[in-house]
Amino acid sequence: QAKEQDRNNFQFFSREMNTKVLERMMLETSMRKALDREEFFLVYQPQVDVRSGRIIGMEALLRWQHPDMGLLGPDKFIYLAEDNGFIIPLGEWVLRAACKQNKAWQDAGLTPVRVAVNLSSKQFGQQRLDEMIASVLMDTGLEPQWLEVEITESAIMKNAEQNATILHKLKEMGIALAIDDFGTGYSSLSYLKHFPITRLKIDRSFVRDITTNPDDAAIAEIIIAMAQTLKLNVIAEGVETRPQMEFLSFHNCVEMQGYLFSRPVPAEEFARLLREGLKY
Ligand code: C2E
Ligand code: MG
Ligand code: MG
Ligand code: MG
Repeated sequence: QAKEQDRNNFQFFSREMNTKVLERMMLETSMRKALDREEFFLVYQPQVDVRSGRIIGMEALLRWQHPDMGLLGPDKFIYLAEDNGFIIPLGEWVLRAACKQNKAWQDAGLTPVRVAVNLSSKQFGQQRLDEMIASVLMDTGLEPQWLEVEITESAIMKNAEQNATILHKLKEMGIALAIDDFGTGYSSLSYLKHFPITRLKIDRSFVRDITTNPDDAAIAEIIIAMAQTLKLNVIAEGVETRPQMEFLSFHNCVEMQGYLFSRPVPAEEFARLLREGLKY
C-alpha cells in the first residue's frame, strides 16, 4: 500500500513538473513577442501621506495580459525574464512607460507626484544603467525629481561596489532611491551609509500583524527610528487596515501604501484618484 502511494505521489509529482516545465517554455517564447504586441501594461498604486490624506507618489507595477493564460502578475514571469535576460528590454520599457505616463499627467495639469519604478538586480549588470535612465528622462521630458527607483537590499549587495557607483550617479541626477522590502533581505546595516538612499520601505510582512505581534511591532518601530536618525524617509507597504495605519502613524511613520488606500489600478483610474483624491 505504501508502495502504491509512493507511485501515485511520484506520478503526481512528475505530471506537475511537466506542466511547470511546459508553462515555463510557453511563457519564455511568448514573452519575447509580448512587448511588440503591447501585452504588458502598468498599474499604479498610490502612496499616501496620512497627515494630509494626499497622494504623494505612486508605485508602477507590471502586468501582462497574456493571450492564452489571462492576466499575469510579476511573480509569474519576472524571475523568468531575469533568467533569460529579457528583463533588460522589459525593464527599460517599464521605466519609459512610467516616466511617460507621469509626464503626461503633469502636462494635463494634475498634481505632480513622484513615480516609483522597481529595478531588478539584473538591470545593474546592464551596461550603463545610469545612461539608460538618463536617456529615458530626456526622451520623456520627466524631471528627475519625479522619479524614484526601488531596489531590494539583496539586489544592492549583489555587486555592492559597482552598484554604489551607479547609484551615486543617479543621486547626482536628482533621482530618489528607495530600499524595497526593507528588513527582509540583508543582515548588515552598514551598507546604509555607503549608498545614497532616500527612503526605506518597511516590508509588508512586518505590517501584517503589527497590532498583534510584538516582534513585528518592535521591528517596525526600530526601522522607523533608524530612518529618523539617518534622516531618511520611511514608508510602510501593505497597509490594509485602519488599526495598522493608526499604529504606524502613532509611531511617526506617515507615508503608507496598501489596499486600505487603494489597490494598484490602471492608468485612467489612477488619474481619477489624482483628481478626486482618496477615500479611505
Ligand atoms: P513590491 O515592489 O514589493 O510591490 C508591492 C507588491 O505588494 C505588489 O504586488 C502590490 O500589488 C502588493 N501590495 C500592495 N499593497 C498591498 C496590500 O495592502 N496587501 C497585500 N497583500 N499586497 C499589497 P505585485 O504587483 O504582484 O508585485 C510583486 C513584486 O513584483 C513587486 O513587489 C516587485 O518586486 C515585482 N515587480 C513588480 N513590477 C515590477 C517591475 O516593473 N520590474 C521589476 N523588476 N519587478 C517588478
Ligand atoms: Mg516595489
Ligand atoms: Mg515592496
Ligand atoms: Mg514586498
